[in-house]
Amino acid sequence: MNMSKVVTRFAPSPTGFLHAGNYRTAVFAYLFAKQHAGTFLVRIEDTDRARSKPEYEQNIMETLAWLDVRSDTEIARSSDRVERHKEILAKLIESGAAYVSHEAKKDDSNQMVDVVRFRNSGTTVSFHDEIRGDITFDTTEHEDFVIARAVDDPLFHLAVIVDDGDAGVTHVIRGEDHISNTPRQILLQQALGYAVPVYAHLPLILGSDRSKLSKRKGAKALTEYRDQGVLAEAMLDYLASLGWHPGDDREYLTREELIRMFDLSRVQKGGAIFDETKLFSINQHWMRALSDEAFVARGELVAADESKLREAVPLLKDRAHTFSEVREMLAGELACLFAAPEIEREVLVRKEPADRPGLTKSALQGLLEPLRRLPGDVSAEVVKDTLMPLADAEEAKGKGGRGGVLWPLRYALSGQERSPDPFTLISILGAPESTARIEKAIAILE
Ligand code: GLU
Repeated sequence: MNMSKVVTRFAPSPTGFLHAGNYRTAVFAYLFAKQHAGTFLVRIEDTDRARSKPEYEQNIMETLAWLDVRSDTEIARSSDRVERHKEILAKLIESGAAYVSHEAKKDDSNQMVDVVRFRNSGTTVSFHDEIRGDITFDTTEHEDFVIARAVDDPLFHLAVIVDDGDAGVTHVIRGEDHISNTPRQILLQQALGYAVPVYAHLPLILGSDRSKLSKRKGAKALTEYRDQGVLAEAMLDYLASLGWHPGDDREYLTREELIRMFDLSRVQKGGAIFDETKLFSINQHWMRALSDEAFVARGELVAADESKLREAVPLLKDRAHTFSEVREMLAGELACLFAAPEIEREVLVRKEPADRPGLTKSALQGLLEPLRRLPGDVSAEVVKDTLMPLADAEEAKGKGGRGGVLWPLRYALSGQERSPDPFTLISILGAPESTARIEKAIAILE
């Protein structure tokens, strides 16, 4: 392998929102550079002026900043380098490696144009791809290919190799869809005396239906996942796992571990599947890895009572896969932690066995005293050890007795069909608030 300082690049075209597959390319190029104490650079490849849009470029910058996959140098833009491309084009024409060709435009207009064609001797071009091995192309079919629409309008291939060459890029890590571009780019590099970089063409990423991931088929911009409350460290971990595996059974890797362990030669040749469910489960792991304080801060969570919010974090860590799920829970089944719920008589008595009228009320009354004796800061386990025997005793008197106690208790506390168990609720609400809610329920039954 090349011993000079490693320089990799990510050269996205801002012609649409990039998807996970594009960013996976960025992540691999970034990891490889960092691993070799090299340089990672980002270049906005806006050679297709008509389709390049500032909002797409803005989204690329935002996503890379979110992932903290940042360019080590100021971000270049192909359109800012057109003068340099023109200079190189002139050089190619002057040396005879390229020539101006007066020909009819390839449309129905009959218009004559002066394009610039590269003089291609039709040799075979071979290169070693770090992922796919040795590749040989016969370049005859490319004939004298067009490298500029006019002497002042150089095209993609020329721009790419001039920009890579001038930046000293040593490793071109990019999507497999660029493999067929490589022989033409190598011919240009050779004609201009640029060193041929090491190539690594990454396999495509497929959607869960195994078709190519594409925006048209609903592939999301990564910022949508950010807005849904996926953590950057989770996204980075997941993107790195698409087509690469550290080779041991480690499932979750930090940025530092990824930089240390990433291995270009272990990237698989077959397409990897982008699986949202897997991404969310990795996200849950990284959400759980946060301290409770960091969880609140990173999720930008707000609630009327901050200390209750903090106490609810273990519940949230247990249940949610994204921070939008967290917010839904706080507004839904966990709203009862922050405000006393409205409750209805019929729902309260729903589980009262038909042969034991009045059980709901007497059971709730029976819970008040033991609850009042609980210490201020109490765990769900202690609450359970205190109250469960009372529910068990009712069950011993007749089937359905346990539910006849626990259901109205949970409903009185939460006002919800679905909620955390009553012991957890009491441990977070505290005994005074819990007894107040139970007393309110008893009053409804008077
Ligand atoms: N601009 C190209 C793209 O967005 C990448 C070109 C390259 O990596 O050489 O697909």
